[in-house]
Formats: sequence, structure tokens, C-alpha cells
Amino acid sequence: MSLSPNPWIEKLPAYEPGRPLEDVARELGLPNVDDIIKLASNENALGPSPLAIEAMCQVASRQHLYPDGDTLELRRALATHLSVTPDQIMPGNGSNELIELIGHAYLKPGDEVVVSECSFAIYRLMAFLFQAKTVVAPMQHFTHDLEAMRKAITPATRVVFIANPNNPTGTCVEPGDLIRFIEDAPPQVLVVIDEAYVELMDPADQPDTLRYVREARRVCVLRTFSKAYGLAGLRVGYAVAPEPVINALTRSRQPFNVNAMAQTAAIAALKDEMHVQRTRTMVREGLTQITAALDRSNIAYVPSKVNFLLIEVGHGRRIFEALQREHVIVRPMDGYGLPRYIRVTVGTRRENECFLTALEKVLERV
Ligand SMILES: *Cc1c(COP(=O)(O)O)cnc(C)c1O
Repeated sequence: MSLSPNPWIEKLPAYEPGRPLEDVARELGLPNVDDIIKLASNENALGPSPLAIEAMCQVASRQHLYPDGDTLELRRALATHLSVTPDQIMPGNGSNELIELIGHAYLKPGDEVVVSECSFAIYRLMAFLFQAKTVVAPMQHFTHDLEAMRKAITPATRVVFIANPNNPTGTCVEPGDLIRFIEDAPPQVLVVIDEAYVELMDPADQPDTLRYVREARRVCVLRTFSKAYGLAGLRVGYAVAPEPVINALTRSRQPFNVNAMAQTAAIAALKDEMHVQRTRTMVREGLTQITAALDRSNIAYVPSKVNFLLIEVGHGRRIFEALQREHVIVRPMDGYGLPRYIRVTVGTRRENECFLTALEKVLERV
């Protein structure tokens, strides 16, 4: 008998991440990564929270010690910040790990997972990994159609994923529709609300989903330090959910799933309201800068509430490749069923300017 992985592993589609700067620099023969602009992974163009950088420098010499496996200080800080209890929080190695742990805790072969047409690719990959069946509900105007998602639920459904704001469309569901959806969901279903970008929204527009956790409904809210706090490289996110859900996720995780540096940085970043505010301002101004230019050139896009924009360019992959030759990395969207689109992250004023100049140039050529 020869060694082979589980048969479904060979069929697991590969995730296509934003291309790393080093990779593209090597391909283009550029000695310096600073010559390239990466607007491909919705990272924070202002960099990490300065308070987090300072805190990390202070603990660098203690990294021979294992981290706190219970992440108690981080959970306490988050609990205060969010007005929930520490027992309603579980940090993870990025919110991506929490998506996987939801699979470990709740999915087995034959179960069903409901997702929306153009949503975060990881949901389907994780469902596939656990041999659950993904049921795809259609969207309406690039927005999750919660009525269609409700209809897609069957007695076999265990998990529903709602990204709000959604990636890659940048759209939000109506808060009233969301609460109706949660109230109507059958008792065997966990409603996962992925809020990776929520801190980038105007505080007045942020939906109050943590209320459902306090009401002990069957929801799991996912958040991350990767976007507004600028700590994507550290890999730290968290789930907020009623205690029984947190207990199930905690049993499914590794003992030290969040590294010590990430715990320290996250606690410091949480206090850095200034950095989040500056990021919000940069995103708002950047969206205005980019959409005004697109309007002038009659290029269609999906109005966004967050730090990225879905732009209709014709042949998305060809434009992605042409932009790369102009030293700008964006994301092609054919893998999301949107072959006519690219997704671009809002950067600094100068980065946005470079992107717009490059886009104009490559669109003229096709
Ligand atoms: C960026 C993103 C995340 C964050 O993932 P991390 O693992 O926390 O870096 C989660 N969900 C969505 C929809 C995202 O776009």
C-alpha cells in the first residue's frame, strides 16, 4: 500500500492569496520591494498601531517563554472593550483559525453550510475540508440576500456564514433583516457573522451584533486585528459568542493557539483608538479620491463602506496582470465568480494616485 492523503484533500481547491511583495519584485527583476505597491489584501496602509509596536519591542526579550494559553489578559481587555464577559470570547490565530475551529466543533461529513455567492472564499474551503456540503445562496445587488439564505437552510444545515461588511463586495446587510434572520434560524444552526472590517465603519453605522451574544442567541461574531489595527502579520482575531459556543471552540483548539507577541500587541492596539480613527479617516478620504477618479472615467464600481473597492474593468485577470507590470498588485476576482472585476485595497493618498495612474494606462491599452 502506498501513502496517500485522504482522497478529498487532493480535490481541495487552493486559496489564492494576494501576491507577496517579494514574489512580484523577484518576478519583475526589481531589487527593492519599496518599488511595488500592494493593494491586494485589504491590509492597513498606515501600518501597525504604534502602541502595539512599542509594546512588542518591550516583550521581545521574553519570547523564550510560552504564551498564556488561556489568553486571560487579552480576553479581559476585549471583554471590557466590548461589554461582554471574558467567557464569551475566544482569541485565535487570525479569525481564519476560528473559521476552521467552527468546522472542528460543528461540522461532519454530510452536514450543510450556507454561504452567499460572492463572499469570503475560506468558508467554502473549510466546509470542504470537513467534508460538509456548501450550499450557495444568490446575492442581490452585490449584497447578501438573507431571504435567499434562509430558504437555503435545510434540516442538515449546521453553520451559516454572513460576512458583514462583505468581502469582496464591501456591502452590508440591513440590521433589521439580520435580526429577523437570526430569530428565524432553526435551533440546530450557528449563525456566524464575520465582522473583519467593522471597525473601519463610522461608529454610528456599526451594527450592534454583540447584543445577540449577550442575549445568548446561537450566533458567533468574528473579529480581527488584521485590518483596522494593522496587525495582519501577527495573526490574531477572536470570536465573540455565548458560552456554550466558546466552550466548544476552546475544546477544539491547540493549547497555545495565539502567540505571545500577538497577545501583547493586540492588548496595546485595543487602546489605540487614535490609530483606528486615523485609519478610518484615511479610508474615507481614499474612497472619495478613488471613486471620484473612476466616476470621471466612467468606470463602474460597487459602492463600499470599507477599505477596498470592487471595480468593473472588463477582463479582470488581464488587468490584474497588466497592473502588476506597472508595479501595483491588486486582486483578480474570477475565483469569486466576478471575472469582469478587480478588488483594490484603499491605500495612502500616494498609493491610490499610483494605482489610478496605472489603471488609466492599462485600460487605454486594452
Ligand atoms: C481579512 C478577513 C478576515 C481576517 O482574517 P484573519 O485571519 O483575522 O487575518 C476574516 N474575514 C474576512 C471576510 C476578511 O476579509
